Amino acid sequence: MDAPVLEVHDLCVKRDDRVILQAEHLQVYRGEVLAVIGPNGAGKSTLLLVLSRLLTPDRGQIQFNGQSVYELNEVVYRRKIGLVLQNPLLLNSSVFDNVATGLRFRRLPGNEVKRRADTWLNNLGIAHLRRQRAGTLSGGEAQRVSLARAFAIQPQVLLLDEPFSALDAPTRARLIEDFHELLAATSITTVFVTHDLDQALYLGDRVAVLLDGRLCQVGPPQEVFSAPANPDVAAFVGVETVIAGQVVSSQGGQIGIQADVLQLEAVGEVVVGREVFACLRPEDITLLPCGERAGSDPSPKSSARNRVAGHIKRMIPHGPLVKVVIECGFPVVALITRSSANEMELEEGSPILASFKASAVHLIPR
Ligand code: ADP
Ligand code: MG
Repeated sequence: MDAPVLEVHDLCVKRDDRVILQAEHLQVYRGEVLAVIGPNGAGKSTLLLVLSRLLTPDRGQIQFNGQSVYELNEVVYRRKIGLVLQNPLLLNSSVFDNVATGLRFRRLPGNEVKRRADTWLNNLGIAHLRRQRAGTLSGGEAQRVSLARAFAIQPQVLLLDEPFSALDAPTRARLIEDFHELLAATSITTVFVTHDLDQALYLGDRVAVLLDGRLCQVGPPQEVFSAPANPDVAAFVGVETVIAGQVVSSQGGQIGIQADVLQLEAVGEVVVGREVFACLRPEDITLLPCGERAGSDPSPKSSARNRVAGHIKRMIPHGPLVKVVIECGFPVVALITRSSANEMELEEGSPILASFKASAVHLIPR
């Protein structure tokens, strides 16, 4: 990660007088995969359109290798960009032609066109389909053609807009695996748009969070997922418990938080008096059957555990897990295995203790 290949400053896009995308600053470094995540309507596709120069923003600079893209010839710039969309737009001709056409446009000699097209048909496991007409392909096969076509032109930047979203789960899983390997092998600079957190975690070297047209946070996946910048990002990345409180003690990296009648412990450096949100991921919460002493631990200095008493409000199946919503004066959401829910004989209305480590609490200023 040295110089940025793409750099965006002070970007603003409006539609019908409404701001649909705003980003103060975004960099895409050479060789990295930047995963742009956000819910439907967040502005993700708009960002890709701007980066590919298919849409001119109302304001902002976009630099490509240090030069404004608007100073570059549009065709020259587009030829450096590989674009893959959710629904691949393929030519109504053979699979081979679809991959070869972009290379012919670039006036590569015939033998080089054939060599590169064959290489990428192989890399994407679709060499056997080379003579098949694109219109007769399955969704997964068509997306493989679209990826082969984009990789084959050896773009300086690969831009992908939810490329796996329209595929069924097993097809998607296989293609994501293959795509991950190809990205690692080529080190191509990539902007990968998705609403799927797992895909972002798996593929992204860094993650950019877009919410409601605003670029809210950019950072390594683990940082964004465990230390979201604000409550909206927290909610989007699956931090389901957000407790409002105030820092009442702070010493030696141990923080005491008063949240209504409850005392919580966290770790970090936050000054006394600061109003905060204490955020918790559901997988960091352990449930204990009631009967043990409720309230905060009797010796908070010696224990890393927080304990909060409540009763179960809802139990929602979540694959092999169960999401348990607990009312503790505020909602606390835990994710536990179905078998431990059965063992503890949990049901809606049961009294319960929710327990979590001080180190699992992430504090956001409010
Ligand atoms: P995402 O890809 O994250 O789902 P989009 O970038 O497609 O979001 O859209 C962001 C917002 O901009 C949405 O609210 C959408 O309705 C609006 N929008 C997108 N394109 C247009 C358009 N051509 N005219 C008006 N509004 C648009
Ligand atoms: Mg979109």
